[in-house]
Order: sequence, then structure tokens, then C-alpha cells
Amino acid sequence: MSTAARPGRLVLLGHPVAHSVSPLFQNAALRCAGIPLVYEALDTPPDELDARLDALAMERAAGNVTIPLKERVAERCASVTPVAGRVGAVNTFRVDDDGSLAGHNTDVAGFELLARTALGDARLPRRVALLGAGGAAAAVLAAVESWPGCTVTLFNRSVERSARLAERFTVVSEVTGDADRAVKGCDMVINATPLGLAASDALPVAIDSLEREAVVVDLVYGRDETPWVHAARAAGHRAADGLAMLLEQGALAFEWWLGVPAPREVMRSAVREGGASQHARHPLPIGDPLERHPRESGDPC
Ligand code: NAP
Repeated sequence: MSTAARPGRLVLLGHPVAHSVSPLFQNAALRCAGIPLVYEALDTPPDELDARLDALAMERAAGNVTIPLKERVAERCASVTPVAGRVGAVNTFRVDDDGSLAGHNTDVAGFELLARTALGDARLPRRVALLGAGGAAAAVLAAVESWPGCTVTLFNRSVERSARLAERFTVVSEVTGDADRAVKGCDMVINATPLGLAASDALPVAIDSLEREAVVVDLVYGRDETPWVHAARAAGHRAADGLAMLLEQGALAFEWWLGVPAPREVMRSAVREGGASQHARHPLPIGDPLERHPRESGDPC
């Protein structure tokens, strides 16, 4: 198995990246763990990615990758973990001891935790509606395909893209261009589009269209609960937004780079307090799983 010494630098690559809260909670975790590194967001337009990765490899850097670079970085890696290979995208990379670039994907496990948070004590779904067919949707499918007996109806704005994704994941039993139709008979509905990021966005699908018992999982997150999660909860649905996924994918990346347990409670508090200090009347939602995560009691600070 490949090994990696402690990285020389920690970065987030994306375009844009200025909005990311990853530096906030990763730097809190590094301080807590007494690791003398600073996690930096590096805006990297796609045409500058190759040169950036070459320079970072020389510095033995490690880091995260976000939109729109995850698939490109996967192609550039000399090796990828099985889960990154399955998704076809890398959100976490490092330079191994032999100097080669290695890629991983922690979005899948992050989503798994988010889904179980939304479910609470409810059983795993048998029928999922997935809205969106980009990189995040591929990570969702890589998790859902391990849920016993579960099948997926895939909705996307452009049906060609969802058809391509369905070819790679046999757990998808139906592809449709009609969101209201996609959610019929589904006991979990997952938003993997950016709808909800902007205040003017429509809901990914109307709450009235959902089955009464459907669990709502929104990969979008913000300072407050997303409009879709808010509306779903008001209508009596179990629901969770993407903050728990964001934190868990970051915690798992921290552990993969550094080989030490991530201080999950510290990371969660950094995001919550960061949000609360800027927007005192709107603290970030606290109903995420890290409050109850079994590993949080091991936080060193
Ligand atoms: P992506 O690869 O760019 O895919 C975006 C998907 O959303 C595509 O299927 C696209 O449809 C669809 N879409 C975009 N704008 C839309 C609109 N106005 N109406 C309907 N559909 C629309 O992005 P991604 O990496 O999959 O990420 C999607 C979202 O997931 C992100 O915006 C982010 O909010 C969230 N996310 C959250 C986490 C987390 O940790 N919580 C992690 C990853 C992603 P077309 O194919 O038709 O363009």
C-alpha cells in the first residue's frame, strides 16, 4: 500500500474557491492538532491546473479539489483509491513517498453520513430519487449502490448527461427529465444540483410532489437550513442539508493526509462559530451528525 510523509503544504484547488468554508474548519483542526501547516484556498482556472499540480508535487503538497476540477485531477493522478476510481472524480489528493500524485474521494463517505443523519432511526430507503447528474450525483450513486435492494430514479435537466451516468451505475433503474415523476414512490429524495445556493432559486422539486414519508437530503448547505430543507421540515418530512457531508468529507481528508484522527467537534464548532459571528441571528444549523459522532469524544481539544 502507498504511504505518504506529512505534506509540505495543504491547499484547496477550485475555480472559484473564495466562498469555501473549508479553510475555516481545516485550519481550526490543524491548530487543534498542533500541526504547523496552513490550509490555503488556491483559485485555479482549469487551464492553469497542470502547471499548478506540477508545482504542488514539488512541494509535496496535499489538499482538496472542488468544482470544476475533480474529474481533471482524477485523470492526472498516478493512482486513485477504489472509491475515487468508482466515482471518476478526486476531491482529495496527496503526494506519495515515491513522488507520485495519489487521489481519493471522501465525498462518498461524507454523503453516507449525511444520508444516515437525515434518516435518523428510519430504515434505509428502497427507492431513491436523485436530482442532478454531475460529480456530486456520481458520489451519491457510489454510496447508494451498496444499500441492499435499493434502486434509483435519476432526474437531470439534460437527459443525455443522466443517461451517461446511468450507464456507469446499474443501481439506476430509470432516467427521466420530469422531476415530479422522478419522486413518485420514492422514500428518499436527494438534491445534487446547486439549486438552493441562490436566494432566487426554485426548489429542486415541489414539496407537494413528495411521498408523505419521503426523507429529504439536500447536498447544498448554507448559513441557514436550505429553503428546500426548511419547506420539507415544515411539511413534516425528515430532512438534512449538506453541512454534515462537507464536514465529514473534510475530516476524512484530514485523516488521509496526516494519519491522525480529525478533531470533528472542533471543525464543526469552527464553522458554526464562524457563521454565528458574521451572522449572529442565523447560526449554522446544528442538527448535523457530528454532534453525535462516535469519534468526537476522541477530540484532543
Ligand atoms: P456539477 O458537476 O457542476 O453538476 C451540477 C448538476 O446540477 C448537473 O446535473 C446540472 O445539470 C445540475 N444543475 C445545475 N444548475 C441547475 C439548475 N439551475 N437547475 C437544474 N439543474 C441544475 O456539480 P456537482 O459537483 O455535482 O455539485 C452539485 C452541487 O452539490 C454543488 O453545487 C454543491 O452545492 C453540492 N455539493 C455539496 C457537497 C457537500 O459536501 N455538501 C459536496 C459536493 C457537492 P446539467 O447537467 O443539465 O447542467
